[in-house]
Amino acid sequence: MCGIYGIINDKNNQAAQNVLEGLKKLEYRGYDSWGVSVISRDQIKIDKHIGKIGEAMTNLPSGLIALGHTRWATHGGVTDLNAHPHLDCTKKIAVIHNGIVENYQEIKEELIKKGHQFVSETDTEVIAHLIEEKAKTKTINEAVFETFKILRGSNAIAVLDYESQTIIACRNGSPLVVGLGQGQYFLASDVPAFLKETNTVYFLNDGEAVVLSKSGVKLFDIDSEKEKILTLQTLDWKLEDAEKNGYPHFLLKEIYEQLKTIPKTTSINEKEINKLTEKIKGGYKIILTGCGTASYCALATKYFFATQGVESQAISSYEFMPFSKFIDKKTLVFAISQSGETADTLIAVKEAKKRGAEIVAVINARGSTLERLADTVLSVGAGPEIAVVSTKAFTSQLSTLYLLSTAVADKFEEGKNKINKLGTVLTNLLNPVLINRLIDTAKNLMNEEHMYLIGKHLNYPATLEFALKIKETSYIHAEPFAAGELKHGVITLIQKGTPCFVLASQDEVKDEVLSSASEIKARGGLIIGVAPFESNEFDVLIKTPDLGSLTIFANIIVGQLLGYYLGVGRGADPDKPRNLAKSVTVK
Ligand code: GLU
Repeated sequence: MCGIYGIINDKNNQAAQNVLEGLKKLEYRGYDSWGVSVISRDQIKIDKHIGKIGEAMTNLPSGLIALGHTRWATHGGVTDLNAHPHLDCTKKIAVIHNGIVENYQEIKEELIKKGHQFVSETDTEVIAHLIEEKAKTKTINEAVFETFKILRGSNAIAVLDYESQTIIACRNGSPLVVGLGQGQYFLASDVPAFLKETNTVYFLNDGEAVVLSKSGVKLFDIDSEKEKILTLQTLDWKLEDAEKNGYPHFLLKEIYEQLKTIPKTTSINEKEINKLTEKIKGGYKIILTGCGTASYCALATKYFFATQGVESQAISSYEFMPFSKFIDKKTLVFAISQSGETADTLIAVKEAKKRGAEIVAVINARGSTLERLADTVLSVGAGPEIAVVSTKAFTSQLSTLYLLSTAVADKFEEGKNKINKLGTVLTNLLNPVLINRLIDTAKNLMNEEHMYLIGKHLNYPATLEFALKIKETSYIHAEPFAAGELKHGVITLIQKGTPCFVLASQDEVKDEVLSSASEIKARGGLIIGVAPFESNEFDVLIKTPDLGSLTIFANIIVGQLLGYYLGVGRGADPDKPRNLAKSVTVK
């Protein structure tokens, strides 16, 4: 759950400074602390601190080789000492790590008996000392590979070795990618770190290691310790994908990018959608799974399928196991994940595979574990999503699955037209009048501690997503309910002035939702309608376009923007909400 970035042969001989800059692009992966190590003359020098990188600078000396880390702490508090990199006793080996070493206690006890001295509380530090121990009798590559084989859990490690002047990295479960620039070599947990320099990359598979030296990059199989052929790929990502491009935050940039990324889904994946359509028509069961935002995408898709007369189930990945016994060979499991590295989703997928299911990965980032596990990949093409809070990846996943639901009902062309039209309508929606209205609404709600949301049918998953955006970005308690649930207990929470969002569409349940709104209003609640129509029940209306079942896209985008403005107004960092990391690669 951390960011890793290393450079060999830095072209300006400022490897530490450039690693720090690249880490800023990965900060979404963890921001409890950061640290950089550099090989400088006769030693490894380290600079590490708690807190976000933000505008951080480092006084580390010049050098050609550096390796750094942003941490999302799992073992050991958020302190400077626990920040990575961690050194061995000789201070010639620096280690950074993504994951959890499940057996670190027993390794540590053994190493202490052998005289190793520990300075941090992390699980990571054992790796540095174990490599040191093994390197007494083996080459550094062997020492790293053998150490890695001893570690239990999902891990990626990167080692800066002073003697050999190399960076050695191993992957099992946590992402790693190498980039090959002109004479410069890069190692990172995600491409944006080095996209400025190169888009020629290799995504490591589990069980693979790379050694980056001044003369190039070598790939190894960790088990056999034998060298393998490195087959490179060129990504079509552009530098501006990893820059803010004049927007104050990535979150706002990515919200606006949806005007293009949603319609883009109509021009990709057609072959895969046709193939899946055949299977669904041939009687395959559908299970949709994901975590957080992706689980709401799964739930919304269940409604889309139902609208088209197709049965499906939506199960949050972390609640998947009790239901896995119903999976058979004629089951399609749609695993939805922005990163393709979400640990809970991967566990569900592995279980489904064991039971013979066909896996469909609905992903945004490329080269992930989920992509490799899948039989079919629906890559939604939204481009790098840097803000921790998901926006464009979510809407592209939802749009892709909506298109599939229309294809199954033989209405694919109609579906594509509707999604293309949605792009234009959303462009008109995000006009200054709406934005000012949202900013005013955010100002009025900024000091609230609680707010509630209701919606029915398709607008129910929309309220879940809308509420999550508010919680993640502004830290206000926003609780979503199915409109029908309200009178069964929750209505006790409504007091005079309690803000309550009512998400609605011009559909057959509109009147029922308005009745629920009026029940809240009768108890003094302040009703904020997010809907394509006016109503006496609404104290405030944020008017969205009438797009039939696709109205929820507009309703959700209102929630994304409102969350953003509330977050900014309350002084939160919209790109990096507290306690969160983008890809949740731990259970
Ligand atoms: N388990 C390690 C620690 O807590 C690494 C966490 C991470 O992936 O950032 O320091």
